[in-house]
Parts: sequence; C-alpha cells; structure tokens
Amino acid sequence: NQITTDMATLTREVEKFAKDKKLEIETLKIRETYRKEFMGNVSHELKTPLFTVQGYILTLLDGAMKDKAVRKKYLQRASKGVERLIYIVKDLDMITKLETGDLHLHMENFNIVELIQNSFDLLEMKAAKKDITLTFDIDYQTPIWVYADKERIQQVITNLVVNSIKYGKKSGTTEISIENLIKNKVIIRVTDNGEGIEKANIPRLFERFYRVDKSGSRKEGGSGLGLSIVKHIIEAHNEKIYVESVFGVGSEFSFTLEKSKDIPQIKAGGKVE
Ligand code: ADP
Repeated sequence: NQITTDMATLTREVEKFAKDKKLEIETLKIRETYRKEFMGNVSHELKTPLFTVQGYILTLLDGAMKDKAVRKKYLQRASKGVERLIYIVKDLDMITKLETGDLHLHMENFNIVELIQNSFDLLEMKAAKKDITLTFDIDYQTPIWVYADKERIQQVITNLVVNSIKYGKKSGTTEISIENLIKNKVIIRVTDNGEGIEKANIPRLFERFYRVDKSGSRKEGGSGLGLSIVKHIIEAHNEKIYVESVFGVGSEFSFTLEKSKDIPQIKAGGKVE
C-alpha cells in the first residue's frame, strides 16, 4: 500500500515538473517570436530613412555637389532624414525602457494647465503650417494641480497633439479640455476634427508600429510608436486612456490623472475647493 502511495506522489510530481517545463518553454517561445517581430519592425522602420539619406549623399558625390543650390537642397533633405532616424531611435529607446520596466516615474505635484500651455507654445509653429488652430478650453489663471511624472505627461500631451496635427485636416482645430472626475481624478481630452479612424482599426491603435494608413503616416514622418508610448506611460501611472473616433469626422484621445492631495485646489473665481 505504501508503495502505491509513493508511486502516486511521484507520478504527480513528475507531471507537475513536466507541466512547469512546458509552460517555461511556451513562454520562451512567445518571447522569441516577440523579439524576432520587434527586430523585424525596427530594421524595417530604419531602412526607409537610411536609404533616403544614402540616396542624397550618393547623388551629391555623383556630381550634384557642383551646383550650390542643389547642394544645399540635398544636404537639407539628407539632414531631415537623419533627424527622422534620431526621432525613431529615441522612440525605440523609450519603448524598450517602458516595456522592460526600466523607466522609473518621477512623481511630483505640478500645474497641468501650465504644462498644456507650454506644450501648445512649442507646437504652435507646427500647427500653423497646416493652418490648424490649437485651443485650450480652460481658465489659464486657475491652476489645476496633479500628481504625476511631469516630463512623461508632457510627452503624452505632445504625442497626442502632434498626431492631431498630423492627421488633422488643413485649417482644422485641436482642442484640449480638462474635466474633474469623481475620486480625485481629472480627465484630459485632446479632440480634433481631422480624418478620424475607421472602427475596425481602433482596437489596434496602441500596438507597437501599428499604422492605419501605412504610406500616409510614413509621409507624415512618425515611427508608429507614439501611441504605444502614450499608453505605456499612462498605464505606468495606473491611469486609463480612451479613444473615440468617427471616420471622416474626427478623434478624441483622453486620459485620466490623479489630482494632488497636498495642494488645495483653487476653483475659478479664487475659491478654495
Ligand atoms: P505614427 O507615428 O504613425 O503617428 P502613432 O502610434 O502615434 O504612430 O499612431 C498610430 C496610428 O494611429 C497612426 O499611424 C494613425 O493612422 C492613427 N492615428 C493616431 N492619432 C490619430 C488622430 N488624431 N487622427 C487620426 N488617426 C490617428
């Protein structure tokens, strides 16, 4: 009887060991597929600007260098290509840090109204090129204090506003608004009246390297990583991000943040909340 019991225990242990090993192998296989896919995407993203830069350099070496005007034009284009490469590499670096958990948040209390105002100032020129108006539906004099990583939230806002410009219609508008939510939270919305996104594409928007219109957005010079970075940053804060879009009408990206507990919030008109 003792032998039967021992055998049963042994069999169970062997089975458990095999199951654990199988799981481990499955995990390794998934990681390997993920790594291969990532590397494939990275080289694909880098290839286009690299070939562009090489093309201009080769044309210059081939004789185009002699003409001063042509030389300047080609060097400017090559420089734009390098700029794009730097932009992609920075995004790649960021996504790697976010996905491996190497990016630590520096949480602090700051005025989100001021941060949005600063982001708008930096992006005004970009918007003006498409005659897009940036509007901020808020009383500038009333600070709204939030507790988050300021630099990362600035990046979130920049990425969302840049997208609204890139995929916005000429002479359109981008509007940011802030609304109080229950449980000491605010929701920040970035709304545009641009090209919008078809329903079927919405669930995949936050995936790495995903683009709705492959050729269109490449022309716009993105890395396909912007929204994925945004989602990681918001989730690292334990907050939520939402998207609503109607094809041909416009899109709204919104995310929540926690209000500061330590600083009294002033309501419009100077009353303390
Ligand atoms: P990209 O570098 O291509 O802009 P993102 O990750 O920022 O990459 O966005 C992924 C895709 O989502 C874009 O290629 C575009 O097709 C779509 N998209 C993002 N923001 C908007 C927007 N405001 N309006 C319409 N489409 C958008």
